[in-house]
Order: sequence, then structure tokens, then C-alpha cells
Amino acid sequence: RPFSDLPLSNQLLKNLKAKGYETLTNIQEQAVLPLLDGRDLLGISNTGSGKTAAFLIPIIEKIKSSNEAKTALIVTPTRELALQIEEEFKSLAKGLNLYSATFIGGTNINSDFKTLSRKLHVVVGTPGRLLDLTDRKLLHLNKFDTLVLDEFDRMLDMGFINDVKKIVRGMTKRSQTMLFSATLEPNQKAMIDSLLHNPVEVKV
Ligand code: AMP
Repeated sequence: RPFSDLPLSNQLLKNLKAKGYETLTNIQEQAVLPLLDGRDLLGISNTGSGKTAAFLIPIIEKIKSSNEAKTALIVTPTRELALQIEEEFKSLAKGLNLYSATFIGGTNINSDFKTLSRKLHVVVGTPGRLLDLTDRKLLHLNKFDTLVLDEFDRMLDMGFINDVKKIVRGMTKRSQTMLFSATLEPNQKAMIDSLLHNPVEVKV
């Protein structure tokens, strides 16, 4: 299906076209409409599937079309992935007046303070730095309604389970959660079930 079949705003369609995205990938076919409807999502998928746009397109559309001030927090295991996601966000959200930031370890935290003084619609980051900023009362997790956990299995492998739990606990206004994992290990199931409410399951 072409993107123009979806109920998306003109500027977003324009941005998709400018990126050379004409038709939806498999995961986008299965995920975008349910996410626009507000459903939770469990995505079993690897990079290369178009999963980043699968969650960013609904996030952008909902921020633009909703009357409430929607904001999304995207948590990734690595700095590189966080930067890639913000780059994709910036190109998809061009001309829409949306602000984003990436908070990752290994960078000077003082520059984060300045970034945080403006209203941000989308924040991408790694668990340690996000919690550091939260502990310093600079980042307020309860302001985000949408949570994306990308490469969840890798986050657990890297020992971020308690950090992820803390982030989730701080998001008291969380109303939509999307969780992506390359694998679905039996020992992750309990945590996934506790995080997602009646999710759409997509496997590509
Ligand atoms: P990802 O799985 O998010 O890492 O995306 C893999 C690659 O697919 C990236 O280079 C994207 O730019 C590209 N991509 C994502 N969605 C589409 C689409 N609908 N049409 C063409 N390329 C896409």
C-alpha cells in the first residue's frame, strides 16, 4: 500500500515522499494503523524492517493531530541507535514544528540542561542518562504519555532491566507502549506482559 492511503497529514506524507518512502514495509503495514488507534504493540523484528518509521509515523501524526500535548520517550540500549532514531525523526518531522532531543551517555551532561529548557515532543535516550537527568529533576518522566522500548532484548542483555523498570515506574501518565525485540525469550515474557496492555503482535 502507498502511504497516501493512510490518514496522515500532508506535510508528513510530503516528508515520506522526500525520503523516497512510497509504500509501507511489512511491519509498517501491520503496525501503523493500530498504533494510530492507540493500541500497544509488541514487535518481534530486526533492524532493516522499517521498524523505526513504523513507530515514528504514528507518534508524529498523533502529536500533530491530537488536542492534548502528546510527548514520546524512546529508550534504546545504545548511543548509536538513539542517534539514528533522532535522525529519522528529524527527517520525518520536517516542517512540523516538533522538537526532539537525544540524551546519551558519554556526552557532557551540561549541554543536556540547555536542551531541556525548551519543550520537547520526542526524547530519545539510553537508560542511564535518562535516569541521571530524572534524578536531577531535569527530565520529568511523568510528562510523557508514549513509551517506545527499542531492542528490548538487547537492553536486558546489557543489564538495563532495573533501569527500564524505573523509567516505566516514573511514567505515571503512560498511555501507549511499543516494545521491539529481535527475539522473544521465555524469561522476558513476564516483564513484557506487565508492560503491554492487549498489544497488537507483529512478527516480521
Ligand atoms: P529500520 O528497520 O528502521 O532500521 O529501517 C531500515 C531501512 O529502511 C532504513 O534505511 C529506512 O530508511 C528504510 N525504510 C523504512 N521504511 C521504508 C519505506 N516505507 N520505504 C523504503 N525504505 C524504508
